[in-house]
Amino acid sequence: MRPLLPYGRHSINEDDIKAVISVLEGGWLTTGPAVDAFESALATQAEVASCISVSSGTAALHTAYAAMRLGSGDEVVTTPMTFVATASTAVALGARVVFADVEEDTANLDPRAAEAAMTSSTRAVAAVDYAGHPAELDALREVAHAGGALLLEDAAHSVGSTYRGRPVGGLADLTTFSFFPTKNLTSAEGGAVLTNHPDLARQARQFRTVGLVRDPALQRHPELGPWHQEVHELGLNYRLADVLCALGNSQLSRLATFRSRRAELVARYQQLLGEVPGLRLPVARPHVDPTWHLYAVRVLEGRRREVYDGLRSAGIGVQVNYLPVYWHPLFEDLGYRRGQCPVAEAFYAEQLSLPLYPDLTNSEQDRVVEELRRVLEG
Ligand SMILES: *Cc1c(COP(=O)(O)O)cnc(C)c1O
Repeated sequence: MRPLLPYGRHSINEDDIKAVISVLEGGWLTTGPAVDAFESALATQAEVASCISVSSGTAALHTAYAAMRLGSGDEVVTTPMTFVATASTAVALGARVVFADVEEDTANLDPRAAEAAMTSSTRAVAAVDYAGHPAELDALREVAHAGGALLLEDAAHSVGSTYRGRPVGGLADLTTFSFFPTKNLTSAEGGAVLTNHPDLARQARQFRTVGLVRDPALQRHPELGPWHQEVHELGLNYRLADVLCALGNSQLSRLATFRSRRAELVARYQQLLGEVPGLRLPVARPHVDPTWHLYAVRVLEGRRREVYDGLRSAGIGVQVNYLPVYWHPLFEDLGYRRGQCPVAEAFYAEQLSLPLYPDLTNSEQDRVVEELRRVLEG
């Protein structure tokens, strides 16, 4: 049997391996210079003042919400068309999540729906750049700020994407990345919080590091001695080790190559699938330049399950991204009901992610297209 083609996977080269080995041979496995190097390279790439590396994209979201001191009584308006962590990390801090529907073409949070969902308790609007296509950040920022809330951009899919000519990372009040192996670059596990606000950066860094306050000028009891460090607010250990930062930094230097190979594969899919009936292909709005994380098609006429099963049994690891978040039992048990975001639910019913990653070859991609046509035409 031919090997399973996954929907996404990492690409590791000799330089990545050497970068990790050199950290293993050095003096710091964690809290060392590779962390600073990765954070400053990410900040430069994203054109943002501060970058705080963390242990996952989920940790990044938790840290971003904690940095804005989200808590009980607060509300977060977000999209249901995302990985559960965008919403569940707000729940972890005691906040209430309010789901607003998505736009029909991009499956990104609809600014008008977000606006309608806001109340005097809304502290954050959390948008997701679905598949790598940036959300309507200008409109969302305006809506958030008009309601006295912050804009958080979950950019787990869109590292390297641009919106009106600027890279994602410094476009929202807080931006979060994920470096899971299927994402646009990887550190095995990892993530980052990016911001231009010095206060949010300081609070994020402190939460990521167990809440420790080391600067005597900021301590309540500095007289206890030069060894003294103290905790004022709850924090967790969400550090990203030097070993993983070295991998991430090496991968970051390959981002432009990943980005162009992903674009090439997406252009080939668009061309090869353009005439195939029963499919709807993804679109990009003119003012964005996505680094495509997912190639998300819509399978029409109620045939998504049939196409999923047909491709899976042909060894093609297609995936469905995502279950509307409030369909998860966690949210059902909190009282959320189906039907509240019909555009997102219609998207979910048809969505299918085809294999997309830098090391996918043209002939492997041809095989995906051939099998997809066979199932649809059969
Ligand atoms: C992957 C992902 C996350 C979580 O990132 P992890 O690194 O897997 O914890 C959050 N949000 C979105 C949209 C994601 O795709």
